[in-house]
Amino acid sequence: MMRIKLEDIPKEGKQLVFLWGQESIQSFLAPKDPHGIAIPDPLSVEIYLFRKASQVHVTGSIRGKLNMVCHRCLESFSFPLEISVETFLQRKPTYLKEDEVELSEEDLLWEFFDGDEIDVDLLVAEEIFLSLPQVLLCSEDCKGLCPVCGKNLNIQTCSCKRMEFSPFETLKELRDSFSS
Ligand SMILES: [Zn+2]
Ligand SMILES: [Zn+2]
Repeated sequence: MMRIKLEDIPKEGKQLVFLWGQESIQSFLAPKDPHGIAIPDPLSVEIYLFRKASQVHVTGSIRGKLNMVCHRCLESFSFPLEISVETFLQRKPTYLKEDEVELSEEDLLWEFFDGDEIDVDLLVAEEIFLSLPQVLLCSEDCKGLCPVCGKNLNIQTCSCKRMEFSPFETLKELRDSFSS
C-alpha cells in the first residue's frame, strides 16, 4: 500500500515514479470482477504532488494497457491507457464527517482524503476507472455472440436462424395461432 504523508510533501513538490501492477489493482476489483480487468504488464505512473496547507494539487500520467472482457463477445481484449492526471485533493473537513451534511458547491470541487495521508493506490485506481468507457467493447463493431449457438460471430459464422426480436412479429404469430 502506498501512502504519502502530507508533511512529507516539500514546498517544491514531490515526484513519484512507479510501476503499478496486478497486485495493486486487485483490492479495488469486485471479488468476481465481471469485467475481467487485469494488468498484464505493470502500468507506468508518474505523479507530481504540490501542497498548499492541507490542499494538494496532483498532476501526472498513467500509461500502459489493461486487459478486460468485451461486453458483447466476452473475449478478453487489450485496452490502451493514456491518462493525464489532474486533480485536487483536500483533507476532509471535520464538518463533512457528519453523514447528513450537504456538500456545498465548493466542496464538490475537491476530492477528499481522511487524516494526514494520501492513499496513492486509491488515487491511481480512481483515475483508471474514471477513464474507462461505460461499455467495454473489443471494437466498435464487435458482432458479439450468436444467441442460439453461442459462437463468437467475429471469428466464425453459423447457420442458426436468428430472429431479430420484433414486438410486431410476436403479435402476428400470436394472432395467427388464434386464427388457425
Ligand atoms: Zn467483442
Ligand atoms: Zn449460431
